[in-house]
Amino acid sequence: MHEYSIVQSMLDLCEKHSKGQEVAKVAVKIGKMSGIEPHFLKESFEVFKEGTVCQDATMDMQIIEITIECQKCKKVAVVDSFNFYCPYCQGGDTKVLTGQEMHIDYIELKEV
Ligand SMILES: [Zn+2]
Repeated sequence: MHEYSIVQSMLDLCEKHSKGQEVAKVAVKIGKMSGIEPHFLKESFEVFKEGTVCQDATMDMQIIEITIECQKCKKVAVVDSFNFYCPYCQGGDTKVLTGQEMHIDYIELKEV
């Protein structure tokens, strides 16, 4: 499963950033178009965090909407499906601005 390898690399990153300190919270941003199932990601995190610096950490997920920019009228719109037509001028020449990303927003370390 795709989500497992993502969690694995997330934990690696946490390990690196925390320099061995325990992590209290991992905040991630998940674009609606990233292909990641937030539910699975969380589940995988719960399984794989055991024995790592994140073992007591909670995961905070923020879902990023899909926004597109119309190349014709230059308007930016939020779309909820994979409908990338400009809602203003119906133009099909749009550029996806957000929604494809998946990254760690920040890591909160445990107070010592
Ligand atoms: Zn437009």
